Amino acid sequence: METSRYQQTRFIVLWGGLKNILLAGLKIIFGIIGHSHGLLADGVHSLSDLIVDSVVIVASKFSNKAADEDHPYGHGRIETAATVFLALILAFAAFAIIINAFITIAAVHINTVPTQIVLWIALSSIALNELLYFWTKQVANQIKSRLLMTNAWHHRSDSFSSIAVALGVIGTWFGFPKLDAIAAIIVGLMILKMAWDFGWHSIRELVDTALNIEETEKIKLFIKDIPGVKAIHQLRTRSIAGSIFCDVHVLVDPSISVSEGHYIGQEVDKRLIASFPDITDVTVHIDTEDDELINPSYNLPGRNTLQKILKKHWQNLLPETAIETAVFHYLDGKITIELKLPMEFSHQTDLETKLKEITATESFITDIKIFYYK
Ligand SMILES: [Zn+2]
Ligand SMILES: [Zn+2]
Repeated sequence: METSRYQQTRFIVLWGGLKNILLAGLKIIFGIIGHSHGLLADGVHSLSDLIVDSVVIVASKFSNKAADEDHPYGHGRIETAATVFLALILAFAAFAIIINAFITIAAVHINTVPTQIVLWIALSSIALNELLYFWTKQVANQIKSRLLMTNAWHHRSDSFSSIAVALGVIGTWFGFPKLDAIAAIIVGLMILKMAWDFGWHSIRELVDTALNIEETEKIKLFIKDIPGVKAIHQLRTRSIAGSIFCDVHVLVDPSISVSEGHYIGQEVDKRLIASFPDITDVTVHIDTEDDELINPSYNLPGRNTLQKILKKHWQNLLPETAIETAVFHYLDGKITIELKLPMEFSHQTDLETKLKEITATESFITDIKIFYYK
């Protein structure tokens, strides 16, 4: 069923492409032969449509390629870059048409009026575009495709472009020689709008524009509901050729193990991708304290330094393995230490007091917890 939907879409889009090949050729040739700015501009419009459609097809093939070593984020941006490049070409063509038309309008004498063939080509273009509009719309309704519906409306806007040309030509015959150039300006503006719609979205993507506030808020609420997540901050999103990449800091209970924290991170990743079809990549950073504004534990000593300090203070009190297997909790700019000791140490009643003497000189150590094992 899905393939037949795809085949139907491809079939009708192919016909749209054939229409553009035919019309681009006829309009450009007869625009020049028939001395019509409007028809020539309309020909450039058809050519632009043709190029846009081909680039979209080719680029989407390319950008679907999986990520590899030199493109670890995938190839989606190839499509985006191609789109921007194309939009610039379209904008350039549109400006050329508009400027040219203005030069003609500014000229004192216009001694060439478009010939009859120009009108016939414009009328055929209107007929062909309307035909494709109704046909595409019917299929779009049948298979409920928004993509095809957009396509159908594009055919209709193409026929408006040719209507402007036809009216311009008729106008020149009735003593308004500048109407043809005015039609060219209208068509030029249509191409410019196409370039804008096509390119703006991609430029926003290239500068890593985030999702809108509502969508971001939806993702935030979703993550906060995942078991084990206490709070989140720094959710960042960006899109690559229609896929959403996001990274987020997730606050978990500071007393859980590293592996449980990692498990929660995996859960966030898994559930986001399952529930938001556009999200394809999630990076989760696990926080044990809120470091959004301040990072209190940033300057505390690491394990190696800390163990040297502990050995210096405790070498006569504890076996070396107890220090080596100590668990350190970094929280609020302080460190608490968990020690695991063999059961026989539990008989030394003053051990805890002696160990805690360290907090007098090493002020960042706030608490020592001792666990005895058999
Ligand atoms: Zn068009
Ligand atoms: Zn954080």
